[in-house]
Amino acid sequence: MHAFDYKSPEVLAEALQQLADSDGSAKPLAGGTDLIDQMRTGRHQPTLVIDIKKVAELNVLECAGDGLHVGAATPCYRICGDDNVQQDYTALADACNIIGGVQIQSRASVGGNLCNSGPAGDSIPAMIALRGICVIAGSAGTREVPVAEFCTGPGQNVLADNELLVEIRFPPRPTASGSHYRRMIPRNEMDIAVVGVGASVTLNEAGTTITDACIGLGAVGPTPLLAARAGECLVGQTVSDATLANAVEAAKEIISPITDMRGTQEYRVHVTGVLVRRVLETAISRATGDPCVVRPGH
Ligand SMILES: Cc1cc2nc3c(=O)[nH]c(=O)nc-3n(C[C@H](O)[C@H](O)[C@H](O)COP(=O)(O)OP(=O)(O)OC[C@H]3O[C@@H](n4cnc5c(N)ncnc54)[C@H](O)[C@@H]3O)c2cc1C
Repeated sequence: MHAFDYKSPEVLAEALQQLADSDGSAKPLAGGTDLIDQMRTGRHQPTLVIDIKKVAELNVLECAGDGLHVGAATPCYRICGDDNVQQDYTALADACNIIGGVQIQSRASVGGNLCNSGPAGDSIPAMIALRGICVIAGSAGTREVPVAEFCTGPGQNVLADNELLVEIRFPPRPTASGSHYRRMIPRNEMDIAVVGVGASVTLNEAGTTITDACIGLGAVGPTPLLAARAGECLVGQTVSDATLANAVEAAKEIISPITDMRGTQEYRVHVTGVLVRRVLETAISRATGDPCVVRPGH
């Protein structure tokens, strides 16, 4: 690995100043589970690594009246172990629970998962489904971007060189809502998703009609995707096989998966359909109050 400087600021303004001063030659390090490997293989060769794990704003994990705030460097083990996340933002807990094993979860953050911007990053479809908003800070101030618009290509995103992702904010959850994230991998763990699906559903008081739905898809295009029409076609519909079948077809229409060693394009299209249905079924069960414990994996 090449030589580099290391800084470990404790104040956000200091981290932003170091980033601005470096003129694009610095890289933030949260858990380092992607970055260190990418530096070892020469994909990134920063002259300065800015360890952001000690910055308080980036380690927030709070559920308040305005929803859930997840600091960008908060490790996965804290997120999936949090009562509020398990109860109300269950898709996010599902995703954090399957990112690597215990060692990886103790370091890896969802901010890093998002900023790495891999098409198969497990937290991203879950955060899209929960309508996450990225709070981004830079020399020019703060701006907000929906998670669904954050990734712009494989390994690429909307962040400028002098910007940091500070937190991901999620709106409050309505009553009678449920969510789920699930992926298909060839092995039970430690693999990259062939397809990943996150969904959030809200039901009417009677639990019979869908009043809101949002679906995120991973590993089926150059970036994780918001399946907007698939969500819209569920709204106002009674919970039925036919309703779910419409959403499955709408989700399949927007994907453009590749063929690789994990599966062919046709296989991924098929798996997307299977997972969208299963994930919606679980999200609906959870919205009705059934905790629906799901075994990690597919
Ligand atoms: C053994 C192993 C198993 C894994 N399994 C999975 C898995 O099952 N599913 C999965 O999705 N991933 C998996 N990963 C990948 C990895 O753990 C995740 O992508 C992780 O969430 C990245 O978070 P991090 O905090 O480690 O990010 P880092 O490695 O610190 O950073 C990742 C990238 O984001 C940038 N960055 C980080 N934070 C910020 C910020 N706040 N603002 C701006 N830029 C930032 C960094 O500069 C870097 O470019 C695995 C990795 C390993 C090594």
